[in-house]
Amino acid sequence: MHLLSQIGFGHWTGVVGWVVSVATVLGLVLVLRHERRQARSLVERSKELERLSSELLRVNRMKSEFLANVSHELRTPLNAIVGFVDLLREGVYGELAPRQVKPVERIEASANHLRHLVDQVLDLAKMAAGRLEIHTESIDLRPFALDVASEIESLVSEKGLSLSLVMGAALPRIRTDPTHLRQILVNLLGNAVKYTDEGGIIIRTRLVDSLPDSGAGSISRSSYPTNPWIGIQIMDTGIGIDPADQSRIFEEFEQINAGPRGNSAERGTGLGLAISRRLAALIGGMVELESELGRGSTFTLWLPVDPADLPVASK
Ligand code: ADP
Repeated sequence: MHLLSQIGFGHWTGVVGWVVSVATVLGLVLVLRHERRQARSLVERSKELERLSSELLRVNRMKSEFLANVSHELRTPLNAIVGFVDLLREGVYGELAPRQVKPVERIEASANHLRHLVDQVLDLAKMAAGRLEIHTESIDLRPFALDVASEIESLVSEKGLSLSLVMGAALPRIRTDPTHLRQILVNLLGNAVKYTDEGGIIIRTRLVDSLPDSGAGSISRSSYPTNPWIGIQIMDTGIGIDPADQSRIFEEFEQINAGPRGNSAERGTGLGLAISRRLAALIGGMVELESELGRGSTFTLWLPVDPADLPVASK
């Protein structure tokens, strides 16, 4: 009896062991099948994502091409409108009757606004399509900034504002694209005048070893080299910008309290800062903002400086 129960026990443990092994193998097979199915669906999903992202890129490129072509086609008739209205206003086709003066001025302001908008859309489209070229030159910043400042001098004095330049004498030369640099500075200075009614504007430069802590609109520092940087600051005593709005004004078509619809000059386009930020990135720099509502704003254009261009004293 004892022997029999021993054989029975041995037999049952054998059976249980066999069942457990089969169950384990079955379990493993099921897990493997599940894993393989998951891997297959992952591969399918990543293929789908790849397809979607290349489709997105293609559509985006087509959009930019379309915008660039349309803007280009719009420019020619617009230039004709602006040119002829100018001639009308100058009396080339006879003196305007007093009643006609105001409407003609409105046509001129609207046509200029539209041309400016089309120019800006064209610039953005070109940048998005990677068609904006960079022609680097070595620039002496002081005379360059003086020249840009003289462009807005009449606007500044029309509003009774002051304009001063605070720039060290021993600034390094910078290697950059002068056309793009000028466009950024003209945009920032134009805004400073537009949004300032009292006080004035200062153009200041700062030479630093590495970028100081970021302000609004800034880009992560880690992707930038640590060479010396020069900051060209446009400081105004204007209306200032609420911290809640400071990032979004760098987006395309974003404006805070845009001017009245009828006033083309005041309305702006909401594209100036978006273009300035993209242009700055294109020339290896960035635009940042510090501002306090009601107290004024400081926009800083940071540009990298080649250490070889540093004045001897600061090397
Ligand atoms: P806009 O053509 O409207 O000036 P921008 O892209 O140049 O377009 O500026 C976007 C918005 O940022 C403006 O509508 C204005 O509200 C705000 N802004 C820009 N510069 C200044 C400044 N210096 N002071 C106050 N607000 C500013």
